[in-house]
Amino acid sequence: MNLYEQHPYWLMKDGIVASYPSLDKNLVIDVAIMGAGISAALTAWHLRNSGLSVAVFDRRHAGMGSTAASTAFLQYEIDTPLTDLCKHVGEKNAVKSYELCREAIYAIGNICKKLKPEFDFHLRPSTQYASFKIHYDKLLEEYKLRRKHGFNVTWMENADLVKTFGMEAPGAIFSEDGGEVDAYLLTHALLKDVEKSGHIVYNNTPVLDIDYSKQRVILHSHNDLKVKAKKLVIACGYESLQYIPKKIADIYSTYALVSEPVPDKYFWHRNSLIWETATPYLYFRAAGDNRILVGGRDDPYHPPHIFPSHIKKKAEQLIQAFHKKMPHIPLRPDFSWAGAFAVTKDGLPYIGMIPERPHTYFALGFGGNGITFSIVAAEIIRDVVMGKKNGNANIFAFNR
Ligand SMILES: Cc1cc2nc3c(=O)[nH]c(=O)nc-3n(C[C@H](O)[C@H](O)[C@H](O)COP(=O)(O)OP(=O)(O)OC[C@H]3O[C@@H](n4cnc5c(N)ncnc54)[C@H](O)[C@@H]3O)c2cc1C
Repeated sequence: MNLYEQHPYWLMKDGIVASYPSLDKNLVIDVAIMGAGISAALTAWHLRNSGLSVAVFDRRHAGMGSTAASTAFLQYEIDTPLTDLCKHVGEKNAVKSYELCREAIYAIGNICKKLKPEFDFHLRPSTQYASFKIHYDKLLEEYKLRRKHGFNVTWMENADLVKTFGMEAPGAIFSEDGGEVDAYLLTHALLKDVEKSGHIVYNNTPVLDIDYSKQRVILHSHNDLKVKAKKLVIACGYESLQYIPKKIADIYSTYALVSEPVPDKYFWHRNSLIWETATPYLYFRAAGDNRILVGGRDDPYHPPHIFPSHIKKKAEQLIQAFHKKMPHIPLRPDFSWAGAFAVTKDGLPYIGMIPERPHTYFALGFGGNGITFSIVAAEIIRDVVMGKKNGNANIFAFNR
């Protein structure tokens, strides 16, 4: 599967920040983690902090899956509005999911502070505008429901948006809680920290087969090497789907670009994350180095997304859509790319176990909030592996 194509900005900017060997001997450990993206790195870090021995295996290079392609908005608003999520999972679990994602933003901030430097982590407000007049009432209803549940949101009319952002839209929710991070650097920092305490990370180490016994899991890799572990975490991003018998997500292609640097005067109020109600949506944010990131305009996953001409066409569409909203900001793409992207029926991730794979936990941060879901997954898996009850696990379970 092609996880992304062309030039993800953070991969270009940060380059190879850490190198890891490939597996060269058999191992026996407490927890084996398949994949070395942000989900695996956060899970490994949490398990190591609980005193377990862990090893992380990636068939490519650590951080170079979807994590490298991520535009890394940290939002508690998942792709499914709270009003709709209530219909899928009930008001209590819907609100709890939003609250957990809000806590995840601050948890990531605290981890970044601990690991230092802070990996371009910044708290940012988040502004969701109504794309069309017919979206106004539904967005206003969303605002009222979030306010009722204690989310720190303000309603903005068109005049407020023009005054605050220089942007026209029928209405918007301005939310205080949001953030951004360099997910690629953070992943390496977490893995390096895990490695410092003797736990091991392997590049170029595909898990080719998995066997299960009563007591443990046996992973088979290249050169007939084996890893025996009491527990397994599958954090292979969208490629995890092959390990699950039931269809749980649809795959889309998504597109992003980072602009050439623009003068300071073009940046907007508190560099808010900005996104819209339409599907597929447009989103944009400040990207550091005076650049602006624009993304979205997803379409069903299909091979053409890998062709440079298709990515170029999508970048032009993103620029046009951005200029419709922000006509006063001249923008030229500098880096553009496409990535795979999974969407579940209710917008929530799948975290936990399936009967077919004993001793195994899935950390699948699907949807537009993959990174905030990764931290929710890491916390739930840490608790369950340590034999502690986690009251939120059922919200994201496979049998929900
Ligand atoms: C363009 C784009 C924009 C995005 N924007 C956002 C955003 O703004 N905010 C947000 O929260 N999320 C966003 N996401 C989603 C987010 O990037 C993902 O949710 C997140 O990176 C997934 O991380 P992961 O660790 O689960 O998967 P990955 O980073 O893909 O890591 C999985 C790893 O598993 C490895 N692997 C697979 N199979 C095997 C095997 N058999 N053996 C060993 N290793 C294996 C792969 O090589 C890979 O490195 C975006 C995604 C894309 C593509």
